[in-house]
Amino acid sequence: NDTDTVNTPNLTITPSTHRLSDAERTKLISNPGFGRIFTDHMVVIPYRDGAWQQGELKAYGPLNLDPSCSALHYGQAIFEGFKAFSQPDGSVKTFRPEANAERFNRSAARLAMPALPPALFMEAADALIKLDAAWVPKAVGESLYLRPLMFATDPFLGVRPGSEYLFVLFASPAGAYFPQGVKPVTVWISEDYVRAAPGGTGEAKCAGNYAASLAAQSQAQAKGCDQVVWLDAVHREYIEEMGGMNLFFVYKENGKTVLVTPELTGTLLPGITRRSLLELAADLGFEAEERKLTVQQWRDDVATGRMTEAFACGTAAVITPVGTVKANGFEMTINNGQNGPVTLALRDALLGIQHGTAADTHHWMHAI
Ligand code: PMP
Repeated sequence: NDTDTVNTPNLTITPSTHRLSDAERTKLISNPGFGRIFTDHMVVIPYRDGAWQQGELKAYGPLNLDPSCSALHYGQAIFEGFKAFSQPDGSVKTFRPEANAERFNRSAARLAMPALPPALFMEAADALIKLDAAWVPKAVGESLYLRPLMFATDPFLGVRPGSEYLFVLFASPAGAYFPQGVKPVTVWISEDYVRAAPGGTGEAKCAGNYAASLAAQSQAQAKGCDQVVWLDAVHREYIEEMGGMNLFFVYKENGKTVLVTPELTGTLLPGITRRSLLELAADLGFEAEERKLTVQQWRDDVATGRMTEAFACGTAAVITPVGTVKANGFEMTINNGQNGPVTLALRDALLGIQHGTAADTHHWMHAI
């Protein structure tokens, strides 16, 4: 009985009675795509009376919610995303899950929600991955995406912090983000919409931030672009981030390669991939800087050739080159719309660590 090997004191395990057969599962994960198939199990942990209660590791399935469930009305809802990777020796490891547990609690604090002890976050993730280990795809570029979330469940209409919450964790096999190989994206600089203002929720991973981004994303697509680039809300000139990813700019200066990423001003999400690339830069002989960059500077630096590449980074797609930038009144191409060597070197280095083909010198991988 495989549940005997899952050590999880804070979760009661009830194995699913309708697990997929090996053949069915293998067929599904042979072409997983992203975010559309889910493993056999999930974790739910309720919070009430001021404390996290005994949780459950049980069959993945619908939740039973009251129509007055306060998260559906007033939006106390946060989430995270991180990945588990199959290793060459057949084991499974997650990438920096403690960093996601910490960011989850920073999001919780901003939305007046209770903290989840990081040890409980880790216990839940390790237990779920262990029970559903057969769902972790094995090919390079593939992974098991973990989605933790927390929301207020009080059946009460009133704008105040909830007193009851549900923590949920489920998993979804994820295919290579670019099955045909990495391809640069075209981005639209949004002038009509802003994502986050000072004092707002921009650095929290809360559901509302994503709802508020959708009209801008539709506009970008109508302009023939793949993704939105957000500007700061006050000056409307500093570059913040792109869709669900942080941005990096590659400069060549006196033979040096310098990576520049917008500094964390409180209005952009502090990405864990962003932080990892800042730490990885030195390993590849690159310098790295966090600072502000205006759209005008971006245009000038591409025009003079000082900026040679731009790319976006995040858990889902790892690293995506930015090939073309469009806005009201201008359009420019970076590196002739091709994948750049610095972008690809960083991508290979990070994927190597995640898939266990390169040494984990930064101790980012967590064994399940
Ligand atoms: N910005 C936003 C708005 C995001 O949703 C994400 C994805 N979590 C990121 C940046 C990248 O963060 P990470 O590297 O932690 O996935």
